[in-house]
Amino acid sequence: MSTPSPPPEKSATSLTARALRLALFRIGLVSVCAGLVSYYVNQMSIEDDVRKRLVLSVEQTLQRESLPFQEIMDAQRNFLAEFKDIYAQPDEKQALVRDFDHIFYRHEDGSYTQRPGLFEGQALPDGRRFKEMSATYAPDMAPTDDTKARFALSYILSHKYGSSAKGRLFNFYGVVPEKGFPIFQAQDIAKVFTYSGPDALKLETFEFYQRGFASASHDPFFTLMYWDPSNKAWMTTIATPDVADASGQHKIMACVDVLLDELMTRTAKPYLPGAHSTLFLADADGTLIYHPQFLESIKSTEGKASIKSLNITNDYPLLQAARDLSPGKARLVETHDDIMAMGLIPGTPWVLAVHYPRALMIPSIIENLVILAALGLVTLLVEIFVLRSILQNQVALPLSRLIQATRTVRLFKERLNHDVLPIQSADEIGELAREFSQMADHIYEAHEQLESKVQERTAELEAANRQLQALSSTDGLTGIANRRRFDEVLETEWQRAQRAGGFLSLAIADVDWFKRYNDHYGHQAGDDCLRSVVNALQSNVLRAGDLVARYGGEEFAVISTSVDRAHALEFAQRLCSAVQARALPHTASPLGYVSISIGMAVTQPVHGSDAAGLLKKADEALYRAKAQGRNQAVLAEDEQNPEGNQS
Ligand code: GH3
Ligand code: MG
Ligand code: MG
Repeated sequence: MSTPSPPPEKSATSLTARALRLALFRIGLVSVCAGLVSYYVNQMSIEDDVRKRLVLSVEQTLQRESLPFQEIMDAQRNFLAEFKDIYAQPDEKQALVRDFDHIFYRHEDGSYTQRPGLFEGQALPDGRRFKEMSATYAPDMAPTDDTKARFALSYILSHKYGSSAKGRLFNFYGVVPEKGFPIFQAQDIAKVFTYSGPDALKLETFEFYQRGFASASHDPFFTLMYWDPSNKAWMTTIATPDVADASGQHKIMACVDVLLDELMTRTAKPYLPGAHSTLFLADADGTLIYHPQFLESIKSTEGKASIKSLNITNDYPLLQAARDLSPGKARLVETHDDIMAMGLIPGTPWVLAVHYPRALMIPSIIENLVILAALGLVTLLVEIFVLRSILQNQVALPLSRLIQATRTVRLFKERLNHDVLPIQSADEIGELAREFSQMADHIYEAHEQLESKVQERTAELEAANRQLQALSSTDGLTGIANRRRFDEVLETEWQRAQRAGGFLSLAIADVDWFKRYNDHYGHQAGDDCLRSVVNALQSNVLRAGDLVARYGGEEFAVISTSVDRAHALEFAQRLCSAVQARALPHTASPLGYVSISIGMAVTQPVHGSDAAGLLKKADEALYRAKAQGRNQAVLAEDEQNPEGNQS
């Protein structure tokens, strides 16, 4: 059983860490790009929305603010029409001259005001009441009937229009060029102004008076804003003169004072939160009516401050754009800091501009960006989590098991346990694992086969070695001829002796008590002893052609053709003596030194005989030598020469 797989490495080089780093980089990059794109798309859509809302808001405001002016114009038109109508009738005119005397009271300085009590609501003798009507008439000359009729008619109609529009319009009045000034308003003008002579009320210093009667034009016009001490309010006057006669003279002019405070209050707060408005005249300088930052300058100059005079460079684009505006239609003007929508209030010379600072959009853009970033972050985390678990469980863990398995296979220690491999997985790693496990099996089996083959071959090689040893002709230990060589030589010499009819002698020598020698002195010493014995034997062979061979173990054979039967025993005994003469100590032997026993056989080979008989005889002779006490030679009897001797 293999050891359990280690957990996937968490090092910086691990597959998971690398893949996660790449994923982080990739998602980060995508998020940043998406963020940038969405930032611009977002900004554009927010800006677009702001533009639409601005245009809508401005156009609604233009329409709404134009309504009172429409009403004023209508009232003035009606006033002038009715005035013209009545004034054209002679008997009405007579009645008006009479009305003048009923209504007005002549002061000592020649000026007129309404009779006391009328303002408070007292009735005239005929029952008519003109509550809240004031009148001042400060002519340079005494009023003519025509003046009287016009002034009285203006008084009556001013009351009619003023009282009917009460609460909506402010101060309705019809001015006559002779400086007659009847007015419908809550405050009695006569009590507000103090008169001391015909020139006391310098009407010609009022813009509406000056402009209204200075030209033959009968177009409605607006005065600059001014502070009205009687109403204690910032006002402007809208005036419409009647159609001038042939000499360019006007008979009457309808006027309405407009309270600007309310308009300013409404203007100051456009529908769009954070936006602010400005109101200015559509003239060359952009004369200001309302500007939140320049209220004091506007008031201190009596409405003469303008975009130009105050050098409000931010609003110059507005001034430029104000040159061609169609009433009621909003137009966008964009600067670096602001998106502005502007438009002409229909029926007025006034331009309303709503400024929307771009900075206001930043929070919503940032808010959207934060939402996007949060979404991106959540996506990132989820993706990393998913990726990590996939990599960890389906890649890194299976791979580490495969690595572990590879180590097992590499060491060939045991058969691979396939249970630890991700072989159930259906993906590429699973396929790899299955292939791997099959390969591991093959490798293991091949290895096993190789092992047994190596063993087999080693055994064969050893056998071959042994064979080779046998095939060689010398004995490894002693350097003399081996058994194989001995057999060959014996056969050859046998044949030769047979052909030549000579003697062939064979001595087999065996070391005495040699087992004890080994036991006592050790095998190494035994080997040395054997070499010494061989040395002794070799130095006593008679001829160069004679052979000393290792017959086996501690047995040696000597083949000689130079020894005849008569000298054979002597020869063998000489060999025994030669070994004895070495006096190799052998304490385990009864003799105390190393000795040999020899079985000697001699014959004259004849046709039909073989060497085996000679060998057998020598062997038997050796046996007898041993049996007779060792350290001696015994000569075997020769069958062909039965008189053979023994020692
Ligand atoms: P005996 O006098 O009857 O011949 O007694 P022995 O002990 O010599 O005879 P035995 O056959 O009982 O023992 C022969 C011993 O020779 C046994 C063996 O270990 C030893 N021998 C055989 N060949 C070698 C060799 O090459 N080197 C060594 N050191 N010993 C050998
Ligand atoms: Mg032996
Ligand atoms: Mg022996």
